[in-house]
Parts: sequence; structure tokens; C-alpha cells
Amino acid sequence: MSSPHRPLDRRSGLVLDTHELGRRAGAMKQIQTSVDAPADLGIAVIGVPPGSPIELDLRLESVVEGVLVTGVASVTLAGECVRCLTEISGEMEVDVQELFVYPGSEATEDEASRLEGDLVDLEPLLRDGVVLDLPFQPLCRDDCQGLCILCGADLNGDPEHTHEQPIDPRWGKLAALADDRSSSAVSSSSAYRSDNAESAQG
Ligand SMILES: [Zn+2]
Ligand SMILES: [Zn+2]
Repeated sequence: MSSPHRPLDRRSGLVLDTHELGRRAGAMKQIQTSVDAPADLGIAVIGVPPGSPIELDLRLESVVEGVLVTGVASVTLAGECVRCLTEISGEMEVDVQELFVYPGSEATEDEASRLEGDLVDLEPLLRDGVVLDLPFQPLCRDDCQGLCILCGADLNGDPEHTHEQPIDPRWGKLAALADDRSSSAVSSSSAYRSDNAESAQG
């Protein structure tokens, strides 16, 4: 995905030095550390805040073709509910299991990650792992009622929410559009109609 010739930044916490392993098959190194999250780790509606801590619990193992990296990266998430726009946060664990082959090795030509000198870069792995596991439509809760299509009020805190005033025709058009897409919008506009009928009788 990213260019294999991009020089790695040793200062990045996600770039690990395997020098100690000395390319001796069987040599092993445990890494438990906290590093700063890079930018753009996630999708538009939810992701890992840049600079937030990523907890790495990894094992680096020297094998014949390269270095096998296995373990877990724990990240924090921040985003917003796609229905009501409330901020949501959470945590996620990303499994890491990747063979980084030595430069010049013929093993698994296309798919494999490669060492650059003694360095391995976890960022592309983490990026793929995080993005694959994220919910594309994050919700604050499964039955989130969303926002009122007329005024934007949060219907979770006000389920009886209705409007007394007739709908401005321009808004009515919008409401009809939203009706097609959202069941909560349908219930809120029918509540409006029954409410209006009662006041006409009384
Ligand atoms: Zn919500
Ligand atoms: Zn409203």
C-alpha cells in the first residue's frame, strides 16, 4: 500500500528496532510500551485520536525469513453517533500477527511486510486492523432515536417530542425526504399529526 522505500522514522513509536535479535532464528524480544497514535488512524465518523496512547504488548521473534511480530495493540476510540451526533468513546484491541521478511528475502514476495534494515513499521498494519474493525455506522446505543427532523432536538431525552406549529412547507419537503430514510422520523411526524387533530377538536 504505502511505498516500501519511504524512509522509516525511528522516532515513531510504531517503528520497532529488531537489532537485538541479531537475525538468529529463535531469538525473541518482548515489547510492552505505550506510544502516541499517529494522525488519520480511523474513518471520518470514528477513529483513534492523534496523540492518544496506544498500548503495545508484542513479541518479536526471529525466524528464518525475517521477524515475526505477534501480540495486541490497544487503542482508544472517539467519534460521534451517526443518528444523534453524541460523542462516543471506547476502546479496541487490534490483533497483530505479521511476518516482516528480511530485505532481499524471496519469501512471499507480494503480500509480506519487509524490514528496512533492522526496523519494522507497525503503522500500516495498525491502520488496516483499526479500519477493518471499526463500525461504519457507530451508534451511541443500538436503539438510538436520533434527532427530530424538524428542529434537531435529541429524541433520546424527549421521546414525546412534538411540534404545535404547522410545518413550514419548505421544512415539510425535507421531512418527507427524511421519512423515507428513518423510522424514528416517521413516528415523530405522525405524533405531530395526531396532536394537531386533538387540538382541532378541543
Ligand atoms: Zn445516538
Ligand atoms: Zn423538533
